[in-house]
Amino acid sequence: MTAPVYGKVALIGLGLIASSMYWAMSRRGLVGEVSGYARSEATRETARRIGLCDSIAESAAEAVADADLVVLAVPVGAMGAVAEEIGPHLKPGATVTDVGSVKKEVISAVGPHMPEGVHFIPGHPLAGTEHSGPESGFATLFDNRWCLLVPVEGSDRAAVARLKTFWEGLGAQVEEMDAEHHDLVLAVTSHTPHLIAYTMVGVADDLRRVTDSEVIKYSAAGFRDFTRIAASDPTMWRDVFLTNKEATLEILGRFTEELFALQRAIRKGDGAHLHEYFTRTRAIRRGIIEAGQDTDAPDFGRVKVER
Ligand code: NAP
Repeated sequence: MTAPVYGKVALIGLGLIASSMYWAMSRRGLVGEVSGYARSEATRETARRIGLCDSIAESAAEAVADADLVVLAVPVGAMGAVAEEIGPHLKPGATVTDVGSVKKEVISAVGPHMPEGVHFIPGHPLAGTEHSGPESGFATLFDNRWCLLVPVEGSDRAAVARLKTFWEGLGAQVEEMDAEHHDLVLAVTSHTPHLIAYTMVGVADDLRRVTDSEVIKYSAAGFRDFTRIAASDPTMWRDVFLTNKEATLEILGRFTEELFALQRAIRKGDGAHLHEYFTRTRAIRRGIIEAGQDTDAPDFGRVKVER
């Protein structure tokens, strides 16, 4: 067995991402020990009951004591306050990372609270589900998914390399990106699609001509996939939009323009435009499957095809 990548890891926040990290770490003795902390007594109790982490602390400060790696796995809007609380209790030479879906805002909220001699290396695993809480995690969440590391100015290269080894041990592929670019890429691939899904489900909910039961009964025709995304955690997604405002608004602007162009094509009966557009988008789907980022089974693998 190889030596653990870190002696002690502290997970602050015990939801989907942190619990998945714990189960993934446990698969192969990646670290020495793991302490955890969540804000509510109920979550800490659940964590103890399901055996999440080697110990559950009563405060974030207690959890990070002597930790070699501290992972901030709370909603983006809570990162600054947590960093302020743990700052004075961090071990010299420790690495602090986060898993937040937005990077520029997290860097400005957390960075000022990091003491001299502590390595702050923001990160973001591109993996998740619509479920949240300590019981939603599973060990394979990060397998073959990307984790983006976003080193800040002056980040220690050895500390970055160690964090990369850690994420690879959790099953992920790791790449580095700067914060500005990260936030734009995620606005395209994740944040704006979520907003569109929220909107579509909201529209169906408002439409009085289609009854609620019809919306649910006939949902397999595309709407169902929107409802899955729109069931994601409201706190997390509120924070994503409030903190990645600039990039999301830019992509939403482009989206609206394209939508108007398609709207005009439908009104004018411009079938060639629609066909050309849908052919282009189909190729993007093929690219995602070829990159191993989704299944090519029909209906996302929900149906078994019998031949
Ligand atoms: P989650 O399942 O909703 O869990 C959030 C955890 O943070 C809970 O344990 C919660 O504690 C705790 N928490 C909230 N506010 C806190 C505070 N002020 N102090 C201490 N703990 C606090 O969330 P998640 O899905 O794991 O997301 C965590 C982070 O990962 C977010 O920043 C999100 O942007 C990012 N992320 C999420 C996904 C995804 O698909 N879900 C993917 C990649 C990255 P209580 O239970 O006690 O309230």
